Amino acid sequence: MRREISIYVHIPFCERKCAYCAFNSFIAKDDVKEDYVALLCDEIERRAAVFKSDKPVVKTIYFGGGTPSVLSEKHISKIVATIFENFDVYDNAEFTIEANPNSLTEEKLGCWKGLRVNRLSIGVQALDDNTLAKIGRLHTKKEALEKIKLARKFFDNVSADLIVGLENQTGKDLCRYAKDLIALGVKHISTYLLEVYEGTPIFSMIEKKQYRPLDDEQTILAFNKLANYLQDQQFERYEISNFAREGYESRHNLNYWARGEYLGFGISAHSFVDGVRMENAKTIADYKLGKLTTETLSPLEEDEEKIMLGLRCCLGVNVSTLKEIDLCKNPFFEQYVNDGILIVDESARIVTLNPIFYHLSNTIISNLFR
Ligand code: SF4
Repeated sequence: MRREISIYVHIPFCERKCAYCAFNSFIAKDDVKEDYVALLCDEIERRAAVFKSDKPVVKTIYFGGGTPSVLSEKHISKIVATIFENFDVYDNAEFTIEANPNSLTEEKLGCWKGLRVNRLSIGVQALDDNTLAKIGRLHTKKEALEKIKLARKFFDNVSADLIVGLENQTGKDLCRYAKDLIALGVKHISTYLLEVYEGTPIFSMIEKKQYRPLDDEQTILAFNKLANYLQDQQFERYEISNFAREGYESRHNLNYWARGEYLGFGISAHSFVDGVRMENAKTIADYKLGKLTTETLSPLEEDEEKIMLGLRCCLGVNVSTLKEIDLCKNPFFEQYVNDGILIVDESARIVTLNPIFYHLSNTIISNLFR
């Protein structure tokens, strides 16, 4: 069987920095974008050449950021052409672009469709104007819904992101957002718990008592209400924070969770090839110099990672991996199996975490490793 790989392309540009954002993204002028695209294409060519006769075939492509939709059609076309010139890509490869409602236009959607993009991931975050304005988003509820409607004319497979834990947010609000998204044909919803990082505007707003996010208990309650609602709407919770209608799970993310190989291009992008993890430099200046860091896990660390990733999603963990590190002998393991928290599929030789206990996964996993 031919070696397969996923490709991630990092576009670090945004129109404005959101109040909560700690990602490696920034506002840039056109000449910076032009130079960055040229550097990206160089990196794609250089790293494709390393494989020689063992070049893998691409099964998923993901443009993330930042906000990939801030790049022009010309720039996206150039990067995509470089990927297709340097790699074989399966005809049915999943190809996702992340977009924000503001920078999504009919022209861009048409262009991406022609480039074989077949999945959009739209940063909605909330559907309430006051909430959106407070966290520094540039769009309103109306604009977000209009853009999703437009996107659906071009793409069947549309995902939306929602943040849980924002000021005054209730589980009911989140269900209302989900209802509006589902009514427009969104097939996948990713949820993110609000995380507050020092140095972000939201951090100082909280310090000055100008913003009050939900506390942990309120956040979990709101999230659980949303999770139950989505499951009632036939959205399977196939990973702790991801929900999809059947057949619309993100194949790109599933590859990460299965510890499949991937190549990441651009600043801060991660790769995992031949058992070695690589992270590109975080600044464009260092990236230009080809700086990166590498890490190789020991066999034990690899097994632990397989278990941590596998138990947080529908993929589960192979019984042989559990046996390799004697996890089946851990008293918690037997107890969790007896209590229906861990589900053992004898024929497939796979152990999965029962999705209704996903919220306890950290405790369960740490007990298993005791
Ligand atoms: S659009 Fe996304 S990456 Fe850009 S600033 Fe906002 S949260 Fe950060």
